[in-house]
Amino acid sequence: MSQSNSKKLGELMPHDHHDHDHAHAVLPSEPALRVKAIETVLTRKGLIDPAALDEIIDTYQNKVGPQNGALVVAKAWHDDTFRAALLADPMGVIAELGFYGRQGEHVDVVENTPDTHNMVVCTLCSCYPWPLLGIPPSWYKSDAYRARSVREPRAVLAEFGVTLPETTKVRVWDSTAEMRYLVLPMRPKGTEGMTVQDLAKLVTRDSMIGTGFPKDPA
Ligand code: FE
Repeated sequence: MSQSNSKKLGELMPHDHHDHDHAHAVLPSEPALRVKAIETVLTRKGLIDPAALDEIIDTYQNKVGPQNGALVVAKAWHDDTFRAALLADPMGVIAELGFYGRQGEHVDVVENTPDTHNMVVCTLCSCYPWPLLGIPPSWYKSDAYRARSVREPRAVLAEFGVTLPETTKVRVWDSTAEMRYLVLPMRPKGTEGMTVQDLAKLVTRDSMIGTGFPKDPA
């Protein structure tokens, strides 16, 4: 490209850019368009009901969030018998609480200890325990997180602000359609005597993925 051409392009850019932004505001992004196209084809073939789809999306986007997982963790912190039962038979205990469902048919609970820190990824796609944690955050689905969690978990954790003693092992769990994971973080100090409800407020989504710590009660 000649210099005069590139200068010309440069001059045109502000106007082009404005049109480009405008187009984006009106039209959905390319992945959204593809999804819409697939949805239209499936609806026409009678394979899906758009009303049912809307309800599923609303459920996991607005009604189910990390609060279900947080309640499970808080109960485990609060009650040793519950904790033992949860670790021995996660699905039995989780189903009894009513947190069983789509994308959460098989969930294992992995407990953090001073010796071992657990961290969850789905290297293949974005498998995640929806009934416990809601919809996965966008970083969980990113190529970088999926690839780097396995190669350099400590570096990834450090970027999330999680630094661990050298003596603590990091164990990375790769989720699949068959098995999802919930991290049971360590109970923060200074929470003795707190109620389950108050404990649950300390449990963050990231602490149940292993990329964060629970909140400090102080
Ligand atoms: Fe996946």
